[in-house]
Amino acid sequence: MTTTFDIDPGHLFIDGQWREATDGARMEVVDPSTGQVVTTVAQAGAGDVDAAVRAARDAFDRGPWPRMSGRERGRVLHRVGELIREHAEEITALESLDVGKPISLCGAVDVTNAADDYEYYASLAQSQDGATRDTPLSALAYTRREPLGVVAAITPFNFPLILAGSKLAPALAAGNTVVHKPAEETPLSALRMARLLQEAGVPDGVVNVVTGTGPVAGEALLRHPGIDKVAFTGSTAVGRHVASVAGEGLKTVMMELGGNAAHLVFEDADLEKAVGAIIKGFVFNTGQFCMAGPRLLVARPVHDTLVGILAEAVAQVPVGDPRDPRTVVGPMAGEKHLKKVEEYVELARKEGARVVVGGERLDLNGGYYYRPTVITGLSNDSRVVQEELFGPVLTVQPFDSEGEAVALANSTPYGLASGVQTSRLARAHRVAEQLHAGIVWINDWAVLDPAVPFGGVKDSGFGREYGPEALASYSKVKSVVVSLD
Ligand code: NAD
Repeated sequence: MTTTFDIDPGHLFIDGQWREATDGARMEVVDPSTGQVVTTVAQAGAGDVDAAVRAARDAFDRGPWPRMSGRERGRVLHRVGELIREHAEEITALESLDVGKPISLCGAVDVTNAADDYEYYASLAQSQDGATRDTPLSALAYTRREPLGVVAAITPFNFPLILAGSKLAPALAAGNTVVHKPAEETPLSALRMARLLQEAGVPDGVVNVVTGTGPVAGEALLRHPGIDKVAFTGSTAVGRHVASVAGEGLKTVMMELGGNAAHLVFEDADLEKAVGAIIKGFVFNTGQFCMAGPRLLVARPVHDTLVGILAEAVAQVPVGDPRDPRTVVGPMAGEKHLKKVEEYVELARKEGARVVVGGERLDLNGGYYYRPTVITGLSNDSRVVQEELFGPVLTVQPFDSEGEAVALANSTPYGLASGVQTSRLARAHRVAEQLHAGIVWINDWAVLDPAVPFGGVKDSGFGREYGPEALASYSKVKSVVVSLD
């Protein structure tokens, strides 16, 4: 697929208007498949963020959006989903260009999921009702669900469209207004979405997009007294800071942070089938996904066989230009991400590990490519095993018992996702219960749906995206007690 649209230099979207940053600052957007600058976007300063929050505040305090019925808001959000589908080809090309995502996966996964998010929360928008409570009082007691106010949505570079949708859709369905700050590396789809939201009928000021850096625009947003909730997805290090500042301001927070999931393969697993899930678990999005499964734990009797099958299969995974429909693994999203992966693999080599396949860059068009890599022979306390590597690298460790497998799986600070490959039903449930993770996949990997809650435990954060749980988290409960005397 070729890029068949013009990419306008991006502006800030505030109160339904497109604006330059007050000081005229701009940032470059780079195509990761070539390393070339493709466009620039406005770089917001603190004053611009203030203007965006004021617009959102005004839209919340005086505008129609929070006062509309859930059904009316649902109608608008449903139209957003339709518009995403109508413009799927263009949005796919834009997101692929910005992040380096293979075009075939980007359309089927990112764009489809974003549309699903809006349609799912459109259908839930009118389910936000309260309840009457039975009391001994001479009173009618009931609860109402009301929106929180202005939500700051701060998103990372790896799934710009999906992670914006997973916040904006429930936040808007519940009647909030939003200021969205996308990652500095990948701001393009957020700006395109602002146009679509407006076209769908979202009133001015309800959604504002400020492109800019974390330390300036992100920090200003987070500290702004006009913000009621911070919905953050990003690294654990930045998340810790964001949570502490938001805590000081007594803002509601949702933290979707890093991951380093274990994928457990028992001797009773269907190995041929497991290989597909294992590969998806570490190469999807070039390994740049929070729910990746880069730590493979394998029952010793099948360890060598599985490593052999994997070595062959991983070497066949098509790596290349994201615009080629055959490509499964594109470039890393930026040079710094590529360098980080190289450093970890270098460290593994120094520690005496064996690089079974991959372990090097792919030199192609000046892009940030790294070959899918499988490493064996690392100890569990190696930094390569314990830390979030965030690239297409799989480490493999053997285990001798179910108890040891669970202990190894739970041995990192993270707890976002986990997976189990087994043909024994009782084992699947038993192990799932013991894993420290917000989601556990049995005999598959990364199967998601907006109806299924997603989020972490431990250093992977708290709060949940998706499901009715996320919608509830964007509202507060008010009790009304009416005297019957
Ligand atoms: P990051 O933490 O560097 O940045 C995330 C966002 O925070 C960006 O928009 C950035 O500009 C902003 N930011 C940075 N400093 C800030 C500050 N001081 N105040 C406010 N905002 C600030 O993360 P990244 O490198 O873009 O993304 C990768 C990370 O995100 C990985 O750790 C990954 O696991 C995590 N992630 C988690 C999930 C999840 O659902 N749990 C999903 C995707 C990515």
